[in-house]
Amino acid sequence: MTRPAQARSDAPARTMHFIREIIAEDNRTGTYDGRVVTRFPPEPNGYLHIGHAKAICLDFGMALENDGVCHLRMDDTNPIKEDIEYSESIKADVRWLGFDWGPHYYHASDYFEQMVDLACGLIREGKAYVCELSPEQWKEYRGIPTEPGRESPYRQRSPEDNLDLFQRMRAGEFPDGAKVLRAKIDMASPNLHLRDPVIYRILHTPHPHAGDSWCIYPMYDFAHPIEDAIEKITHSLCTLEFEVHRPLYDWVIRNCHLFPSRQIEFARLELTYTVMSKRKLLELVQLKRVNGWDDPRLPTLCGLRRRGVPPAAIREFCERVGITKYDSLTDVALLEHCIRDNLNRTARRAMAVLNPLRVIIENPEALPATIRSRNNPEDPDAGERDIPFGPELVIERDDFAEVPPPKFFRLSPGKSVRLRNAGFLTCTGVEKDAAGVLTAIRGTFTPMSEPLKVKATIHWVAAHTAKSVEVRLYDRLFNVPEPDGDRNVDFKTHLNPDSLTVTTAWVEPSLLTATAGDRFQFERIGYFAADSDSQPGAPVFNRTVPLRDSWKRT
Ligand code: ATP
Ligand code: MG
Repeated sequence: MTRPAQARSDAPARTMHFIREIIAEDNRTGTYDGRVVTRFPPEPNGYLHIGHAKAICLDFGMALENDGVCHLRMDDTNPIKEDIEYSESIKADVRWLGFDWGPHYYHASDYFEQMVDLACGLIREGKAYVCELSPEQWKEYRGIPTEPGRESPYRQRSPEDNLDLFQRMRAGEFPDGAKVLRAKIDMASPNLHLRDPVIYRILHTPHPHAGDSWCIYPMYDFAHPIEDAIEKITHSLCTLEFEVHRPLYDWVIRNCHLFPSRQIEFARLELTYTVMSKRKLLELVQLKRVNGWDDPRLPTLCGLRRRGVPPAAIREFCERVGITKYDSLTDVALLEHCIRDNLNRTARRAMAVLNPLRVIIENPEALPATIRSRNNPEDPDAGERDIPFGPELVIERDDFAEVPPPKFFRLSPGKSVRLRNAGFLTCTGVEKDAAGVLTAIRGTFTPMSEPLKVKATIHWVAAHTAKSVEVRLYDRLFNVPEPDGDRNVDFKTHLNPDSLTVTTAWVEPSLLTATAGDRFQFERIGYFAADSDSQPGAPVFNRTVPLRDSWKRT
């Protein structure tokens, strides 16, 4: 069993899964003396997305639950695609999700010197050799799983020659691709990853963190177990595609005589109506199909943050998705449910009208100047505010029908509705322009103290204080559940052309002081958050989610 909740009071309720069981068993048997050290090892070659959030919640979560620590490690062994810009965004996103690595911030590239030493150790023991096969030959010699591969003609070089050549590789004597260092394992293994894998390559490219002193770089499969072992990681959690690499991970640990870190694989998060791979997200950004990495339609953590998604909702979502050993596709509706559930408890209520219709009140002498209203009926601590009221209101155009269709319970001539928080409105007539187009409706106000029997409540704002602000309504970025489901069809053909609608809303004055990140429920419409484009007195609102699951489905 896991220990009781610690560290977070808002931690999601927990369910057992196989990684919790493995760690509990290791703690029981004392495999690592009861220590739990995990790591989150992003490659700084893009922005984090909600798939990474699953790994972050698991890595940091397992450490927190077990009084352990989780390291944040930039897995920066490939200088071609990596950039400091990405490392900074990764740190900001992990912090925003609510996790703290304390002093444990590391770079794989800080271990390059130790990695070279370990590679030299392998060479001395006759377990690695410098190979000069071209990439095409290397592939051909490696063969196919059902037949043994062929040994490289360079496989029997002496350790002395190999050491000399490897040192000259490092000294920059050879051009890119001229030589590689390979581990000498088993050319007949059914697992291709064990057929003398490449562990070092020549790359005359400066490194964003380690500088320009390197022209050889270790391959992931060699570097990762060393990084884990140097940091004495106990449970190295990664996604399922690394399962076939595990024998090589274990080989490196054993043959380099390292701390016995254990690799454990779990299924990656896949979401409907979304693409998750960094390469595809980069393509959307570069082709300007979205407005940058933090476009609120993207599944990036910075996009979700800008959209107004609370980090606790993402943690709750990750816990609910669970940890399994088989790949599956999670319905994005589950994420939206977790967001709504959180915002219902935490977001302040306010009134805003997207599609305005003027209401002229015919008994202005009976009107209150302001209406006292609770900020969040779900949260007694959220306080109250005064909302201005007046002889002219603005209501939603759709809440009125001159000729009501069957079962239309909102406003129509002669009918009454409740005005949210305020009282009752009875429609007494309509005003039209010369062309016969409806311009306003007329009505009488009845206070709460004299309740009318009504079947609907509508929201409103007082016209004399209402201000018009920009709102951005988001729909799903793709219009099919699996945009990258078919290799033969470009995922971009499934982009939803209506994924962003920019419009205006008439809002109550309390919304005008909103600053970036403030979250609201616009009553009866949805959850909205003030965008970073907001100016003092002129907020811009992003719709985080509609109130109900009413997304257009195809
Ligand atoms: P992508 O495939 O999206 O480009 P990646 O796997 O290359 O991502 P890394 O920076 O290498 O990204 O990932 C860091 C960690 O996050 C790894 O441990 C990886 O297994 C994990 N991770 C990446 N994508 C997902 C996902 N969709 N679900 C769960 N974990 C993920
Ligand atoms: Mg990767």
